[in-house]
Amino acid sequence: MRVSSLREHYDVVVVGGGLVGASFACALSAKTSAKASANPLHILVTEPVAALQASTSFDSRSTALSYGSRCIYERLGLWQELGPLATPIKNIHVSDRGHFGAVRIDHANMGVEALGYVAENQHLGVVLTAALDRAPNIDFLCPAVIDELQPRPDGMRVRVQHGEGTASENTTTEITAGLVVLADGGKSILSERLGISGSVTHYGQKAIIANIAFEKSHDNVAFERFTDRGPLAVLPLATHQGDNRGALIWTVEEHEADEILALPEPLFLQQLQERFGYRLGHIEKVGARVAYPLSLAVAREQIRPGLVLLGNVAHTLHPVAGQGLNLALRDSEVLAELLAAAHDEGLSPGAMTVLQRYIDAQCHDQDATIDFSHYMMRLFSNGNPALIWARKFGLFSIDLIPVMKKTFARQAMGLAERRTRRA
Ligand SMILES: Cc1cc2nc3c(=O)[nH]c(=O)nc-3n(C[C@H](O)[C@H](O)[C@H](O)COP(=O)(O)OP(=O)(O)OC[C@H]3O[C@@H](n4cnc5c(N)ncnc54)[C@H](O)[C@@H]3O)c2cc1C
Repeated sequence: MRVSSLREHYDVVVVGGGLVGASFACALSAKTSAKASANPLHILVTEPVAALQASTSFDSRSTALSYGSRCIYERLGLWQELGPLATPIKNIHVSDRGHFGAVRIDHANMGVEALGYVAENQHLGVVLTAALDRAPNIDFLCPAVIDELQPRPDGMRVRVQHGEGTASENTTTEITAGLVVLADGGKSILSERLGISGSVTHYGQKAIIANIAFEKSHDNVAFERFTDRGPLAVLPLATHQGDNRGALIWTVEEHEADEILALPEPLFLQQLQERFGYRLGHIEKVGARVAYPLSLAVAREQIRPGLVLLGNVAHTLHPVAGQGLNLALRDSEVLAELLAAAHDEGLSPGAMTVLQRYIDAQCHDQDATIDFSHYMMRLFSNGNPALIWARKFGLFSIDLIPVMKKTFARQAMGLAERRTRRA
């Protein structure tokens, strides 16, 4: 529920009410609120952007939610609201421009009603904000910025600036937390201040995002197309005012991005058409275009006593394989389950024994998903003849060999088998 004043102590403080922070808080609330009356677990979520839907997390992008993520939102009781707003992906078509071979994955062969769903981030924002507002054991403070974290023997001291005015007009409150869940995104100032370093691979690319309209119905197919100048994806969206719509994610070299963004619409459509081909007929319209720089960033530490990093601050992935949020949702659900169990055992949520259980449970999934995204990106954005051969053979063989196809599909759907413990 929205609050304007704070308790002195919270069991868990979530820094950032973006896609990951909000989803995690809902998961923790769902797993603990049923038992809350006897021994409540108090959760605080803070978010600087006054209207949460205006947060960069909930901008004009769309997100491909895997089938596994749908199941997570279902378990949180949010799919009832999200499902009708999302467009099912019934088939995935992966192809390589100018080369023979494609992977076609059909939902029927995987025994599910859809391989995944495309949700507009703004819709996710509306549903998640409403869930934060009504959760019984969440205090939701917005606008509020956490500007300092100080480790204490039993958790963290947290400094919160809140209010709608300038920094000098706002209220500063110091509180304590058993655990701080840092979900403040890939440009986290707080993790930097805590001296948490990361490994960063710059891909030298940007993703151009826009909604597009085309001649033919997409028939709920998601297209991944690899070209000599970078991969592009068209995800199916619901029709709007009679337009067949899709969400475009077009990866281009960094130095080309400004030029492509500035192209007059007919030229932009022409260049896009050349790369995508005519599977959806003529591409007729493009909406607002925005470019995001792309890199792979992985924090070297995800846990410290009283602290855990979640979402982009822990791992920012290339969006080509659509895995960033999906991985963070799996992390969030596992962390919430372990914190709820620790609460029942009477353990502090920030105890290293509890947080180590989380890393042990999720490290294999994280490594496999990061490798999958990175491998896809390297393999498919390179004009090197050896790699062209590898992907020609790879796509062809993945399509023909059922076991490979199933493995590829399960990873993309967020259903890959989990192992624990980092080797
Ligand atoms: C172009 C593109 C396409 C993508 N497509 C997909 C896809 O199809 N499928 C998929 O799974 N993933 C996709 N992703 C990845 C996905 O968008 C990210 O994984 C997700 O946005 C990460 O969310 P986050 O909450 O960790 O970070 P953010 O979205 O950056 O949110 C961080 C939040 O923290 C708040 N904050 C910051 N500092 C503070 C502070 N000091 N105090 C309090 N709050 C603070 C911010 O206001 C913000 O609301 C895509 C990414 C891009 C760039």
